[in-house]
Amino acid sequence: MRAPGWGGTSRVKVNDMTRPLIALSSCLHGDPVRYDGADKRDAWLLEELGRFVDYRPICPEVGIGLGVPRAPIRLVAENGGTRVRGVADPSLDVTEQLRRYALEVLPQLAEACGYVFKARSPSCGLFGVPRYDREGRLSDTSSGAFAAVIASRLPVLPLEEEGRLANPVLREHFVARVFALRRWRELLAEGPDAARLIAFHARHKYQLMAHSPLACSRLGQLLSDLSGDDLAQRLAAYGQDFLATLAQPASRAAQVNVLQHLAGYLKRVLERPARAELAQAIERYRTGVDPLLVPIQLLMHHVAQHAIEALAEQSYLNPYPAALDLRRGI
Ligand code: SF4
Repeated sequence: MRAPGWGGTSRVKVNDMTRPLIALSSCLHGDPVRYDGADKRDAWLLEELGRFVDYRPICPEVGIGLGVPRAPIRLVAENGGTRVRGVADPSLDVTEQLRRYALEVLPQLAEACGYVFKARSPSCGLFGVPRYDREGRLSDTSSGAFAAVIASRLPVLPLEEEGRLANPVLREHFVARVFALRRWRELLAEGPDAARLIAFHARHKYQLMAHSPLACSRLGQLLSDLSGDDLAQRLAAYGQDFLATLAQPASRAAQVNVLQHLAGYLKRVLERPARAELAQAIERYRTGVDPLLVPIQLLMHHVAQHAIEALAEQSYLNPYPAALDLRRGI
């Protein structure tokens, strides 16, 4: 069966850029495509994040022609590999169809800035999907057959499961990566020159630093001399490293380091009481008393009040639409 296209998505702007496209398991979108005809509609994805992104629902089991309702399938460990077989009828083996369908869908993910999979599904699950031995005993866990191909072919695409997105830290990280990838795509679409690439890096400096100070300076080095005729190669290398760096988690200590850098930048314009208040807000975040939102809001207030242009555009302060309010929980 042919993989469906992206057609019909509204591409209006959010935060002055085109809304990111996110692929997701159709059942999370509320489509009644589960083996039993039910759905697994995810309210946060649709009602909160959905205000700022467009979704492309994909159901691989329907895509390969299994009907709704259908007999359930599961992962089976076999000969050192994994097959996807019918639970009631193990002669049903849809492993290769699911893998082929993933390859068929790949070109349509070229514009996607993320993918949210349904957890524990033998097709869509990314992590910890139950795998059984041939006698039907639970053996271990693996990835769903469709999701495994997507993950291996698109290593820098932000991928998550809806269950993990209930964790505020993972949720914030995923959304920040989605919007960073959208900004990168916008740059590529503009036809980047050396000046634009340098401005892009400057805008993301503190966001990168929160994930890896080392990678942040490595990426800066990569752009130190763009006068040669290898801009296209440098651009490709930068993009790979940029996205891989943002895929690393940002620890609380690394966030504190960035907050202190930003506070240091503001030192010359702040009076002593304002500096002390900011230092205290950072300390309260460091010790887990207040969420990250508190020092960030204070920083943003000072940046706006003193019209610090160099910081006003920093993606670290404004990584995604503020209305998502994701830093209140981390
Ligand atoms: S988990 Fe994946 S295969 Fe299963 S119903 Fe949802 S979208 Fe379809």
